[in-house]
Amino acid sequence: MNSETAAYKRLVIVSNRLPFVLEKCGDGWTAIPGSGGLVTALAPVLRNRGGIWIGWPGISESADISELVEKASKDAGFSMTPVMLNKDEVLNYYVGFSNEVIWPLFHDFQSYCNFDPRYWEIYQKINSRFASVIAENASPEDFIWVHDYHHICVATELRKLNVSSRLGFFLHIPFPPLDLFVKLPWRYELLRAMLDYDLIGFQTLRDRRNFTQCLGAFVKNIRTKGTGRLLSVEFEGRTRLVGAFPVSIDYREFSQMARTREVADRGWFIHEDIPDRKIVLGVDRLDYTKGIIYRLKAFARLLEKHPEIHRMITLVQVVVPSRRNIPIYENLKVEIERLVGEINGRFTKSGWVPIHYIFRSLSRTELLAYYRSSEIAIVTPLKDGMNLVAKEYCASSIEQTGALILSEFAGSAHQLQTGAFIVNPYHIDEVADAIYTAFKMNQEELKVRMKKMQKSITRQDIYWWVDSFLNAAISGKLKDFPFLEELSHDTEPKSE
Ligand code: ADP
Repeated sequence: MNSETAAYKRLVIVSNRLPFVLEKCGDGWTAIPGSGGLVTALAPVLRNRGGIWIGWPGISESADISELVEKASKDAGFSMTPVMLNKDEVLNYYVGFSNEVIWPLFHDFQSYCNFDPRYWEIYQKINSRFASVIAENASPEDFIWVHDYHHICVATELRKLNVSSRLGFFLHIPFPPLDLFVKLPWRYELLRAMLDYDLIGFQTLRDRRNFTQCLGAFVKNIRTKGTGRLLSVEFEGRTRLVGAFPVSIDYREFSQMARTREVADRGWFIHEDIPDRKIVLGVDRLDYTKGIIYRLKAFARLLEKHPEIHRMITLVQVVVPSRRNIPIYENLKVEIERLVGEINGRFTKSGWVPIHYIFRSLSRTELLAYYRSSEIAIVTPLKDGMNLVAKEYCASSIEQTGALILSEFAGSAHQLQTGAFIVNPYHIDEVADAIYTAFKMNQEELKVRMKKMQKSITRQDIYWWVDSFLNAAISGKLKDFPFLEELSHDTEPKSE
């Protein structure tokens, strides 16, 4: 540990949701531990080094969940602190500003935006509430790492409260180009708020370039210096860093789980039910950014162009329910179901249904079994910060013969372009042709492609991501945060 990092005591993680999911249980609630890359990577650090996770527990009812949070903290081995929101706040801050303003605008869907001034008012209020909770729980020696678009203004509010800790921010979604960002009524305020962090991280160089272009256009007297992954931005006598850090997965965990007997057996049953056919797999949260409608049309186009492969190919489209209280999402579900029905009605023959449609969340085993047993994965978002499904599919391709069709507008395209079939998701013919090429490709060629992708994800996995962010933020790494024992008894550090 170098002298600079030795000053940092704990990591304080701030995200919209706490790392557990509350489920209704009779009259009360029960807490199910969260999963996902961020939790997997950060939970051990917080557990071993005594950090804190601050977030919303996901309910808007005025229930007393203090005992539940205490138990969840005990089970997780690190402290969790809830920030409570009432129904009106959830509606305006979360559903409203986060998901009806920033989400569509930052994903190039400006026409889906609802620039309601009340959304902005409540967004600031909730960011301020998060800041108060952080200020009550953090010390100046902590490094505070704020995640995602729900909390852009937290640093500004923390500075107002005289919090002097170093602050990092990571945007998990894309940052839009200037032409789109200019539409935001609070464009200056948001940019200015981002400048209150010491390190601002984006998924890709393209997002970072969009951000610096917007800064150049709207913030006077700003100077950007440097090239490469980290830039420095000088403004009002202070320097902050701006970088690109592509988020990833726990490659080893996925690959090991995909090898288990349980997953293999499950995969065997999937193929038994869809015999003598290649499976093309789509797995997405219900979201208009995921390009599901275009993808279904591309699959129909493939069937139209190549009747000779009917009965030899099946699309399994898994859609995970999401944001059901927003009308655009409900309409999208209706449109997907209409289109699946229309395509199946048009092409189904006895013993062969071209599209299998699943609308629910899958267990980890089921998901991995689908990844493992599908010859082709089709990941064609119209815009996506990164897209972890693409990386998870590669990690689960044990035989290394899986083919990945990937949108050029997914953040992961940059990293996976050497092995994936890169497509413009709006180009229905191009996507149909890519499925056909992947369908026809021999196993040797597929292996060469898959190995390249696996190598790249192995090198830049979720731990690499955390380390490179911390390295940029505080010249530190995961292992540099002291162990609890070290803090209290000054004993030898344990190995990971
Ligand atoms: P987004 O964060 O926009 O939903 P990503 O592809 O980056 O998109 O991440 C989706 C995550 O959700 C992945 O980690 C994936 O494993 C998980 N997931 C996707 N589909 C399912 C499903 N049907 N059941 C359970 N988890 C899923």
